[in-house]
Amino acid sequence: MTPPLPTNGGVPHLTPRDTGWIEVITGCMFSGKTEEMIRRLRRAQYARQSVVVFKPAIDQRYSADQVDSHSGMHIKSFRIDSALEILTLVEDARVVGIDEGQFLGPDLVNVCEQLANDGRRVIVAGLDQDYMGRPFEPIPQLLAVAEYITKNLAICVVCGNPADRSQRVVNRDARVLVGEADAYEARCRAHWDPHNFDPVQEPLLLGRNIADRT
Ligand SMILES: [Zn+2]
Repeated sequence: MTPPLPTNGGVPHLTPRDTGWIEVITGCMFSGKTEEMIRRLRRAQYARQSVVVFKPAIDQRYSADQVDSHSGMHIKSFRIDSALEILTLVEDARVVGIDEGQFLGPDLVNVCEQLANDGRRVIVAGLDQDYMGRPFEPIPQLLAVAEYITKNLAICVVCGNPADRSQRVVNRDARVLVGEADAYEARCRAHWDPHNFDPVQEPLLLGRNIADRT
């Protein structure tokens, strides 16, 4: 299909018009990726834009039918087993949120491209590295085709530096420990060690009301 001719004579502008695009929000555990995605989706809802949200069925934490951040923000969502399901469930939504994109496999890249080519705004949150510091596919591939990339940093629990690594603090080999936030700490480059599983912080009472902690 031939794209429509520009209506402004081709003068450059800073934000996209009459087209879709891909935004990726990435970073380590506890960097606020899901919260940032929910903030953007809520803002779209306030503007009466149709929003739909997907998350992998593998992520069972907290709730089956909504996307939850560790801080307790949430938004209703579809649970899916594969990225391809998004294409059949998306219907006419103009804004598509996808949480925990690192669990949705290589098809996620083409699915996001298709959604954006159809004129939709696509917002994906996902880890860029696994607990060994390896790029966590398909997020690196998605970064390559995204228009907008936000890399959130957490705070190192050892020194307070900006942190971009997920330190595993339980001695398990599986690449994925879903929903086990207590199994990780945010660490900076200097304090991240994938071969040392000793935690340095008290367990966080994640997902509970702040008032319940005292
Ligand atoms: Zn540190």
